[in-house]
Amino acid sequence: MHLKTRGLILKEQNIGERDKLVTVLTEARGTLRAFVHGAKSVKSKKAAATSKFCYAELTLAKTKDSYIIDEARPIEMFFKLRDSLDRLALAEYLLELGFAFSPEEENAKENLRIILNSLYFLCNDTYPPKQLKSVTELRLLSLSGYAPNLVACDRCGCFESTTMYFDMEHGLLYCDNCAPASAPFALPLGLVSAMRHIIFSEIKSLYNFKLDSALLDELSYITETYLLRKAERRFKTLEFYNSVQALG
Ligand SMILES: [Zn+2]
Repeated sequence: MHLKTRGLILKEQNIGERDKLVTVLTEARGTLRAFVHGAKSVKSKKAAATSKFCYAELTLAKTKDSYIIDEARPIEMFFKLRDSLDRLALAEYLLELGFAFSPEEENAKENLRIILNSLYFLCNDTYPPKQLKSVTELRLLSLSGYAPNLVACDRCGCFESTTMYFDMEHGLLYCDNCAPASAPFALPLGLVSAMRHIIFSEIKSLYNFKLDSALLDELSYITETYLLRKAERRFKTLEFYNSVQALG
C-alpha cells in the first residue's frame, strides 16, 4: 500500500552503512517511523529530504510492520535554524514536543501546522522565541486533551479579576476572591488573556498577541511548568534550551 503525505522529519538514526530510520510527523498518519534505504549513498536524492528538520512531500510504502520512504521531495529545509545556538536549541525542543504530543496513525494536520509555523517564525524572527515556545507548548497540550480550563473562575464563574490564580495540578483558574491555597500561581490578567488566546483562537491568528518581555518570561515559565506536570517526564531538549538561555 502506498501513501502520499507531507511530513516533518523529527529524528534520524543511521542503520548500518547505507540505511537510516527516521521519525516523521506526517499530516495523514501522525508520528511514524520509516526506513530510508540507501540514504547514506552519495547519489541518494532522498538523503537531504529525509534529514532532521526537513519538511517534505513523502511517498510511503506500508509493509506488515513498518513504513518505507520510497520518495521524498523537500518543501522546506529551515536552513536558518543552524545560524544560532539559541534558535537551534529551541527548534530541537519544538521537534521533541511534536513527537511527544502528536497522535500515531491518526490525522495530525493541526499539530504539524503549529510546529511548522513555529519553526518558520523562529527562522524569520517574526515573533519572540519565548512566544513561539509558549504557543507551541500550550496549543499542543490542548490538542492532546490537556487544556487547562481558563474560561472562568472555577468557583464563582467570574470571567476576570485584576489578578487570577492558577491551579497547575488540576488546570483550573480562580478569581482573587476564591483562590484556594492549591492555586499559588498569580496570573496578571494580561497573561490570562494570552493563555486564553493560545487555547481558543483559530490557528491563523494563533500567534497574534503582544506581551512585554517580563510577561513573556512569566508566560514561558507557566506554560513550561504546566507542560512538565502534565507530561510527567523530562525533555532533554528543553533542559538544553534552558542551559543555553542561562548562558545569556
Ligand atoms: Zn471566583
